[in-house]
Amino acid sequence: PTRVRIAPSPTGDPHVGTAYIGLLNYVFAKQRGGQFILRIEDTDRTRFVSTSEQMIFDALKWVGLTWDEGPDVGGPFGPYRQSERTAIYREHVEILLANGTAYRSFETAEELEAMRQQQIAAKTPPRYNGAARHLSQEQIDAYLAEGRPYTVRLKVPLEGSTTFRDELRGDITFEHTNVDDQVLMKSDGFPTYHLANVVDDHLMGITDVIRAEEWISSTPKHILLYKAFGWEMPKFWHMPLLRNADKSKISKRKNPVSLNFYRDSGYLAPAVLNYLGLMGGGMPQLTEQEIVSRGINTKETDIFTLPEMLEKYDFARISLGGPVFDLVKLKWLNGEYLRKLSPEAFFSAMRETIFSDAYLQSIIPLVQARLETLGQIGDLADFLFRDNVMPPENVWLPKKRESAETLAFVGEQLTALEAATWDKDSIEGELKKLGEAKGWSVKENFMLLRAIVSGSATSPPLVESMVVFGKARTLDRMRRFLA
Ligand code: ATP
Ligand code: GLU
Repeated sequence: PTRVRIAPSPTGDPHVGTAYIGLLNYVFAKQRGGQFILRIEDTDRTRFVSTSEQMIFDALKWVGLTWDEGPDVGGPFGPYRQSERTAIYREHVEILLANGTAYRSFETAEELEAMRQQQIAAKTPPRYNGAARHLSQEQIDAYLAEGRPYTVRLKVPLEGSTTFRDELRGDITFEHTNVDDQVLMKSDGFPTYHLANVVDDHLMGITDVIRAEEWISSTPKHILLYKAFGWEMPKFWHMPLLRNADKSKISKRKNPVSLNFYRDSGYLAPAVLNYLGLMGGGMPQLTEQEIVSRGINTKETDIFTLPEMLEKYDFARISLGGPVFDLVKLKWLNGEYLRKLSPEAFFSAMRETIFSDAYLQSIIPLVQARLETLGQIGDLADFLFRDNVMPPENVWLPKKRESAETLAFVGEQLTALEAATWDKDSIEGELKKLGEAKGWSVKENFMLLRAIVSGSATSPPLVESMVVFGKARTLDRMRRFLA
């Protein structure tokens, strides 16, 4: 039976790439009567964000995806959260150590860094030099007896190459001289992505690994691991990355990649899902004749529901030219969906998002003390209901370069804030760093941020407004000001 999975890491806001890959996995499974599994890859404790997992569940459900097995719904191959499977990875590392496909490496972080610096100076690619491959058993036993910390590394063959078949691209070959002796288990006993991913895909019976193109370079390591364990391999499908019109990959620095942004901005979930379904090009296009005979606009062939995708999506049609994730087109599509809603459904959509009780209630403290009539709410708070605002002409702003630096710095600080701590104290704390870290005038930079967020020099209090407007949309306004 077909079994596929997505394996997001809870490292921040839920990524639109996760929904894109999730949708394709879902369609792949359901077209074949198989299962779609959600696994949480939370072994990188340095990037772990506690609220991220729930946001991932919520965002995927919001776009309309459901999974057959996962941390929240359970299933026969659990646990589905890697942090709960560490004993399994340790057992498996022992297998590799015993059969000689992996080895212990005892270098300290400083030694590894010195190695890296030397290699950089010698203009050779920074990579582990394999020294620990040559430790004698006595030496290893002595180190272990001392309690020296170690990592376990994959013993990549010194010669030859690994070839694997990508179902969309054909054979891909990597020379072993270009593959690092990947760390499989860190000194804290946690596995790295590579080990945990392969062990779980095997134990969970995954038949097809459908993931983003950026994982291609990891695949030879995975193939070597499957071979080291003597396991059958799944098929690999690497989907083209979502890109900007200039072909750069969409990323959180440049684009609104958080699904929360789309939800908070009042995009309709079926429109977002439809748009993601267009990426990659697996849906058939109507012929010129069909379009004429049905009397429809060409663009309407781009409009489809999830059931239609299940019926018609064809993985053989996928085109590898990077799909452009174009907000103008997504907005157009969303508009088509909005226009088709009944007035009742439109009203519900409004009340669930932009005019929800919760949102309106959150605005009260911003406006109540500053109004003489309720009719003035819009005068003060229009910016909370607009797609975008720009600073008014007559407001003093720091020069373009300084503004850009400020926003880049603030953006960085605020992006790292967890959505659950998107509150007054945390934001203020981050903004204070403008003064501390950079010696910049906090007052001037607050003026800049106020103008960008509210489009006015006299808005309700800045930080409170940012809290209400939400993280995703606030950061988007800063990004757009710079664009
Ligand atoms: P960014 O590049 O935006 O900083 P990232 O790659 O660090 O993001 P992750 O949180 O690692 O973001 O990505 C979440 C998931 O989305 C991963 O599975 C990743 O493969 C996928 N992904 C990230 N960027 C893209 C993209 N441009 N197109 C498709 N999938 C993507
Ligand atoms: N944890 C990886 C991610 O964040 C999984 C990649 C894969 O699908 O193998 O996407």
